[in-house]
Amino acid sequence: MSRPKSVERLIESLGRLPGIGPKTSERLAFHLLRAEPKVARELAEAIVAARNSTRVCPTCFNLDEVAPCSICADEERDRSRLLVVEDPRDVAAFETAGYRGLYHVLQGRVSALEGIRAEDLTVKPLVERVREGGVTEVCLATNPDLEGEGTASLLAERLRDTPVRLTRIARGIPAGSTIVQVSSAILADAIEGRRDLG
Ligand SMILES: [Zn+2]
Repeated sequence: MSRPKSVERLIESLGRLPGIGPKTSERLAFHLLRAEPKVARELAEAIVAARNSTRVCPTCFNLDEVAPCSICADEERDRSRLLVVEDPRDVAAFETAGYRGLYHVLQGRVSALEGIRAEDLTVKPLVERVREGGVTEVCLATNPDLEGEGTASLLAERLRDTPVRLTRIARGIPAGSTIVQVSSAILADAIEGRRDLG
């Protein structure tokens, strides 16, 4: 079955999004083509506007509309604590849970399966940031799954000879869940119950 090139392009573009297989991208594309014109226009404009108005913070690598981000710029925060997370969605989750220190966003996690190495993440800037001083505790808050634990071990190794207290969030997060899926209460407990890494 031949389809207009523009439709193929839309299906392909949607199919490049995480978690969207060929069937889903086709379904979404035809939904957009059948919907009111303003639905498609609003989606397209929202994508471009968000992409153009956000930037990566040069200090913590969080996403915000200002750089440095509003969290790094907030003088009211406890600047001696760093919470290391995988991505900006985790920052949002810990903010809701009431955490009031600073962050460092890795922009992913080490994954042999996906070919992601420490060098592809913001590990080096993290080590440099910690060495610059001012931080007394680094809490590793990568996800409690295989790759998240592996990434935490690697970070612990890289930060071992820095003079900071190194901690890992508690194991209260149910197996198979990610940080963005659990409640604020569980996340607050996970920080509260953090353990020291030797
Ligand atoms: Zn920042």
